Amino acid sequence: MSYTAEIISVGTELLLGNITNTDARDVSAMLSELGINVFFQTVVGDNPRRLKNAVNIARSRADIIITTGGLGPTYDDLTKQVIAELFGKKLVYNESEGDRIKKYFRERLKTDDMPENNLLQAMLPEGCTVFCNDMGTAPGCAFEAGGKHVLMLPGPPRECVSMFRKCAMPYLSRLSDGELHSHIIHIVGMTESAVEEKLTDIMQSLENPTLAPYAKEGEVTLRVTAKAGSADEAERMMLPVIENVRSVLGDVIYGVDKENLESAVLELLAEKGKTLSTAESCTGGFIAKRLTDVAGASRGYLGGVVTYSNESKTKLIGVDGDLIAEKGAVSCEVAVEMAKGVRDRLKTDIGISVTGVAGPDSDEKGTEVGTVYIALADESSVYCKEFHLGGERTRIRTHASARALDMVRRYLSGLDVI
Ligand code: ATP
Repeated sequence: MSYTAEIISVGTELLLGNITNTDARDVSAMLSELGINVFFQTVVGDNPRRLKNAVNIARSRADIIITTGGLGPTYDDLTKQVIAELFGKKLVYNESEGDRIKKYFRERLKTDDMPENNLLQAMLPEGCTVFCNDMGTAPGCAFEAGGKHVLMLPGPPRECVSMFRKCAMPYLSRLSDGELHSHIIHIVGMTESAVEEKLTDIMQSLENPTLAPYAKEGEVTLRVTAKAGSADEAERMMLPVIENVRSVLGDVIYGVDKENLESAVLELLAEKGKTLSTAESCTGGFIAKRLTDVAGASRGYLGGVVTYSNESKTKLIGVDGDLIAEKGAVSCEVAVEMAKGVRDRLKTDIGISVTGVAGPDSDEKGTEVGTVYIALADESSVYCKEFHLGGERTRIRTHASARALDMVRRYLSGLDVI
């Protein structure tokens, strides 16, 4: 049987436009991995009457109702009370959840002063499956009543997504036979729409396993999910799909089940026994941050400079001032000198540099916003590539950092660098 779900996101701040409803987006994406269709998403404020209406409508047209938000201890957190009343369930105190909440205050929040009303969060519908919250206090839960499954998740996105993956997915996958297994394919250097265009036929023809894209700033990820009788069988089903995607997309795939691009680059540096340094202008240190976010990065990444002004490019990494005046700071020539300069100063095997116009305004030479030059220098060669990245300032900077890391990945993997 194929199930349909409706997501009801509770929170007046969502209606006021104060926050974006990322919970509904993320829960929808995860439901599609399970092969559960979402036909409606509803947003309702912290108002019991309107929430009742929304739940009544949802139960008339969906098999599964998933709520996000309103599980907290304050007066406007009313999801559980409203749902329990509508489905004729009593709310009962769950002792082990109560103890967990007390422990959370003691050990995580380092206080013995837990407001008593926090224990209201341990009041749960009788007979429900409890979804433990590893990241906060409010537990979630699920129950079946009147032929409908109702799942309640906390509002804070980290808690909602993590609880959905850890607790709601196994609960929902038990509704149909088989277990779910998935792999993530990581792609860089191609837009989500280009990836989708190339894979539309495959994605549409697949039912089990499924193949679904997720855009991440600067990268695209594809999740392959199989439902099968065992993990081995799921692997056997997923393998040909991954191979097929590889044959269509080729070397823009930087890995399967990788942590992220920066970790992949650091792994490659370690594998090849090479060191890297960075000279950043428009990315302002973002590449360095991404690399140093990874524990143990110093084995391959030795350091970098942010040379934002023309003077700093000259003073810190020896870029010729006349060259900057002649070609402009945003030019291939300057990018190359930056990569060579930082490599030379920090005595690394590879130097990578980024110079570009992140906007909102063009530079003094009228260079188009989004124009970015990325250069890579090694002992004997230099490579430089011009990019025209779309979007606003943050997107341009994020994408530029991904493109620079990708250039290092391609170089270390022996692929065409430009
Ligand atoms: P808490 O215990 O923190 O009160 P809760 O389950 O009651 O959790 P809410 O009070 O509804 O959740 O929301 C807490 C915060 O989580 C909100 O202020 C908002 O920042 C975020 N949040 C809530 N719902 C969503 C949503 N649908 N999408 C994104 N963020 C959300």
